[in-house]
Amino acid sequence: MNNIFGENTKKLGFGLMRLPRLDPAREDSIDVETMKEMVDYFIGQGFTYFDTAWMYCGFKSENAAKEALVDRYPRDAYTLADKLHCGFFNDAAAMEDIFQQQLKKTGVSYFDYYLLHDLGEDHYKKYTKLGSFDWLVKKKEAGLAKHIGFSYHDGADLLDRILTEHPEVEFVQLQINYLDWESEAIQSRRCYEVCVKHDKPVIVMEPVKGGTLANVPETVAAIYKNYAPNASVPSWAIRFAASQPNVKMVLSGMGNMDMMRDNTGYMKDFVPLNDEEIELIQRATDIINHGIAIPCTACSYCVDGCPMNIPIPKYFSLYNAEKQEYKGKGFTPQGEYYTRLAENFGKASACIKCGKCEQICPQHLPIREHLEAVAAQFE
Ligand code: SF4
Ligand code: SF4
Repeated sequence: MNNIFGENTKKLGFGLMRLPRLDPAREDSIDVETMKEMVDYFIGQGFTYFDTAWMYCGFKSENAAKEALVDRYPRDAYTLADKLHCGFFNDAAAMEDIFQQQLKKTGVSYFDYYLLHDLGEDHYKKYTKLGSFDWLVKKKEAGLAKHIGFSYHDGADLLDRILTEHPEVEFVQLQINYLDWESEAIQSRRCYEVCVKHDKPVIVMEPVKGGTLANVPETVAAIYKNYAPNASVPSWAIRFAASQPNVKMVLSGMGNMDMMRDNTGYMKDFVPLNDEEIELIQRATDIINHGIAIPCTACSYCVDGCPMNIPIPKYFSLYNAEKQEYKGKGFTPQGEYYTRLAENFGKASACIKCGKCEQICPQHLPIREHLEAVAAQFE
């Protein structure tokens, strides 16, 4: 099986999308000093893979990668992945301009891995029209991108078509977690199998589903604790993704040192799930699937373009938490959080139904409809 990541490379990547913040309300207020400590720890434990993108952390993730990583370590101490999203350009010249800015922002002279970001039916058309695949090959030939791939959010049939039409692509980044594995909408397993068929190694994004699988119902947490008292709840999700043989890297957005210590602890000498553990995860999946109302991954892609400044993922997270509370608990804190958020941002009921958010949502969620439910719940 093709492995461009190296046989001895550890399977955990540091996703630079949810970094520690100085101001919890502002995603671009990256706490670079804490990030430096995390980078040092990560590299100290023998890990090497870092993943950023143009718009992560309010367009500041690449700058932070330079400050915390690139300026402080020799180039062969790490590998850096970056991505190009077609939502930010409409012609080839602007595409090239973004790439050049990315080199400057990160401070590297080449990327180890470079991806077309967020492919699906619509974006595939746009990348094709603008010649992005040929352009990507030229970047590889010029030594500016050592390995080329794309991240993907759509069905398995289209993925099969893209990989057939573009054998030059070397790897695919997929959303894989145990909740989405058999999901009709996300089709994680089927997409993974398409990659196996085309002999393309897989990088996993959203292994913990934007934190959802770190905050599982109490019954599920008890199942896990009973089996392995010292294992954290998210470790089950990350190990599930890493246990798929063709998965060569699992990205985790680590927001603080505790997460970093926990993740690197069990991924340093990674042991795949055994049969009994797989069975427990299946039980957990069944239980959770009964409780999650809105499967939002909190990627925040929808937020910037919303004319009413609605904090969509935050509202969805509150709504899910509310729906997962066990009945009869009495007071729950979600309503309070909602009221505070609504003082500074648009209310769910302020949605004017323009649909911009749904065009960019990689999970294809009916956001407008869900916001109506949020409004009914909290307003
Ligand atoms: S449909 Fe509503 S939530 Fe979505 S971008 Fe428009 S106003 Fe914002
Ligand atoms: S609604 Fe969609 S785009 Fe917005 S944060 Fe959730 S998954 Fe991302």
